[in-house]
Amino acid sequence: MDDATFPKFEGVWWRGKVEVDRGFIIEPVEEELIQYNPFDFYFPQGKATREQRSLPYLFLDVNADNIEDVAAFSQRFGVLGDEKKFRNPNWFKTLFPPPDETPKEGLLLMKIPPETQRIEDLGLTAEDFLRIQRWTPSGQTPDKDLCAPMQIGTFKNAQQAIRIAVDLHRASTESSDRVKAEAMRSLLGTMISGKLAAVRPRLAWDSLSQQWITHWDTWSLVGAMYLMLLFDIQGRGNILTCPWCKRFFLGDHSRTQYCSPNCQNSAKVNRYRKRMSVQEGKKETSKKKKGGTDGKKKQRESRTV
Ligand SMILES: [Zn+2]
Repeated sequence: MDDATFPKFEGVWWRGKVEVDRGFIIEPVEEELIQYNPFDFYFPQGKATREQRSLPYLFLDVNADNIEDVAAFSQRFGVLGDEKKFRNPNWFKTLFPPPDETPKEGLLLMKIPPETQRIEDLGLTAEDFLRIQRWTPSGQTPDKDLCAPMQIGTFKNAQQAIRIAVDLHRASTESSDRVKAEAMRSLLGTMISGKLAAVRPRLAWDSLSQQWITHWDTWSLVGAMYLMLLFDIQGRGNILTCPWCKRFFLGDHSRTQYCSPNCQNSAKVNRYRKRMSVQEGKKETSKKKKGGTDGKKKQRESRTV
């Protein structure tokens, strides 16, 4: 996607203090969950520095075998969300609104600014109003009830699935076998599309920037991550693994290798040291060679010891 036209995204997820209890990450009820925008942690190619890595890659950094690591991630970004609660009775009503449904009164009026409480002020007829209102329920937003205690196993499985998706994408890009690459892409498409059922676009007006933006209703944090992957896969950047720290990141340039100048420097220093030690080694052997018969004698002596 072109950087200039990349739309402004927003979404809502919740985070707060967490506790670890018998294999679960719990957000204690007495601690208030704070709403944040997970898309603040999405950096499309060309929009950020190499060090600003997006949420799916930060998720993959977590050592899921270490519960403290999982807790630290959950404290920063919230739990992943209870998949059992991923049900919205009104989700499908958009497709098939029952014709005889009685609209709930006042549902739309709540959304209308107080200075224009009358539908006539908006230039709507009562009939128009009913029509709009009938469709309104499908626009329900998810709430923080989704943030139920999370089992470590759930976290591990979700992480494994995202790793498979990233690996599949990279393998399909690198494969020279066209048939195999096609098969991998088809699998990836099916997999990601299934996960994208947990996000839904909403048209929202951003009064701050005075423009229409896309708000993503998010029924699981993982859903938001798959959406970010979708854009990264479609974009011009490459999802890479840093040869030094082994972390995933989005390469901003066709020649990009390392996730950060830090890793690039560390690898450079390491290469230099290796080269130096090889040269030292060579010097040592040539010294021994210069030692001539003495060296050989010593070797023989040491062998007999
Ligand atoms: Zn690195």
